[in-house]
Amino acid sequence: MDNLTACIFNIQKYSLHDGPGIRTVVFFKGCPLQCHWCSNPESQYGSPQLIFEEGKPPTVLGEYRNLDYIMKEVMKDKDFYEESKGGVTLSGGEVLLQHEFAIALLKQLKDQGIHAACETTGYTSLKIFQAFIENVDLILFDLKHYSSQKHYEISNVYNEKIIDNLKVAINQGKEVIIRIPVIPGINNSLEDAEGFCKLLKEVGATKVNLLPFHQFGQKKYSSLNKEYKFLDVPQLQVEDLQEYKDIFLKNGLDCIL
Ligand code: SF4
Repeated sequence: MDNLTACIFNIQKYSLHDGPGIRTVVFFKGCPLQCHWCSNPESQYGSPQLIFEEGKPPTVLGEYRNLDYIMKEVMKDKDFYEESKGGVTLSGGEVLLQHEFAIALLKQLKDQGIHAACETTGYTSLKIFQAFIENVDLILFDLKHYSSQKHYEISNVYNEKIIDNLKVAINQGKEVIIRIPVIPGINNSLEDAEGFCKLLKEVGATKVNLLPFHQFGQKKYSSLNKEYKFLDVPQLQVEDLQEYKDIFLKNGLDCIL
């Protein structure tokens, strides 16, 4: 068990956006999806890689870390977690790609009484997903599209596995917040909002967080020598999505922007 390692590309302290309270977010490298608008393209490749920034020597992004290292890092802020009712969030990339390590880490967090959240696409086998969520207190479940065909076109994977795992999490009584990145031309029409609502009601989801498209990841593409297809796509503001959000509310879903 001590030999277990995972490729991690960031450990972010004092996060206020990835679960309740003050949190440390552990970012796992590697993702089975290839979303065209991804704002963390550096997370997609599952091994350390070179980053090229203008005027600077290349740097390596991503390091293999063992459980002891991660636990020592996250436990440094235990007092903040206690005072703020926060904890630790596993994110990515897709944490489920390194599930063995993640499951072992979640067990250690549970032993220490630390609230554990994860941000996931849910794209894995049922067996792995069930073992993974056992010690998770909150699941931030990313959903890109309600239509499986569309999901494939925008991310390279179909959504059946994802929906099956979402149902399992909900049926097991886990706290689940659906996170929908609202992307122009991909899923931002009012018909899309209705499509999401239909699916979410069918699976029994109750809470939704809408994430308006932004361009924060744009510069990362050139540093990775990758093509960015969303360069000319305008960012969405909260005001742009009021009508979209209202459809979720009218469908009885607890929706925030
Ligand atoms: S699932 Fe997330 S990390 Fe993976 S490619 Fe899509 S946006 Fe990027």
